Amino acid sequence: MKTVYIIHTGGTISMKEDAQTGAVKPDIQNPLRHSTPSIANLANVIVEEAFHLPSPHITPKEMLILSKKIRKKIKAEKIDAVVITHGTDTLEETAYFLDLTIETDIPIVLTGAMRSSNEIGSDGPYNFISAVRVATSDEAKGKGVLVVMNDEIHTAKNVTKTHTSNVATFQSPQYGPIGIVTKHGISFHHMPTQHEFYPVEEIEKQVFLLKAYAGMDEQLFQAISSLNIDGLVIEALGQGNLPPRTLNGIKPLLERNIPIVLVSRCFNGIAQDVYGYDGGGKQLKELGVIFSNGLNGQKARIKLLAALQSSSSYEELQQIFNH
Ligand code: ASP
Repeated sequence: MKTVYIIHTGGTISMKEDAQTGAVKPDIQNPLRHSTPSIANLANVIVEEAFHLPSPHITPKEMLILSKKIRKKIKAEKIDAVVITHGTDTLEETAYFLDLTIETDIPIVLTGAMRSSNEIGSDGPYNFISAVRVATSDEAKGKGVLVVMNDEIHTAKNVTKTHTSNVATFQSPQYGPIGIVTKHGISFHHMPTQHEFYPVEEIEKQVFLLKAYAGMDEQLFQAISSLNIDGLVIEALGQGNLPPRTLNGIKPLLERNIPIVLVSRCFNGIAQDVYGYDGGGKQLKELGVIFSNGLNGQKARIKLLAALQSSSSYEELQQIFNH
């Protein structure tokens, strides 16, 4: 049997609904302990409760702790796979951070739940068992960090939470899942093309994320420029354009060599310098804005945080965001 390192971090998968108030809250004891006996039929497990946090409480600091724990465990012991349970709200950010900062071909799989442990139709134990089944399948090797929810296997890079409450919330817009979980097996139908790695030992940079909207002006940019800021990601309009008045806020940041990465607020497609009008992509590119090749805003922020630990030159960052 394979050996799986299981790390619990909290989230709805480890919470209970209060029958009186309907409030979903962390439980004193992680209810996933009850699923562990069925997991023991699938693999030898090493279980650790790293945190007991709702995922809106997870920060890059916790992500780095997880990354270091996994790297250390892989070095110290013979483990075949890693499974992490996590709240779904920021699961995609932790998954992508781990994908960028761990260099290994052993499967690392994240999972969570949309319904807490005592709700009807609770999806936690099922997703947990599915994650272990995927992590222990031979084909999961070398595919980077994966997210397994609701019988689907997604890459950390493309997956995103798309629905507030539906159990089918995790989707990979434009690309789809790379595999499925069935009663009898695990079936992969796509292979991720490349894996990027950034050797991150510290996270001490401050990267903000702003979303563009009709009529946006310079004010938010001016406000953040007085803060301690190392980088900025903007979810731009359409193919990669901004309302013209934002330029008065963007130019001073670029003059201070603060990297600005542009993604689109559309969840399909890639931001590119296509339009030549005031605030259009061509002008933004000429000013030194970095265009990202298809990440969503929250993932581009994670990537910029990781990349800034080793580089802050425009050329290198543009190269990094071309991938
Ligand atoms: N708010 C919860 C969290 O992210 C949602 C979940 O786990 O599904 O911790």
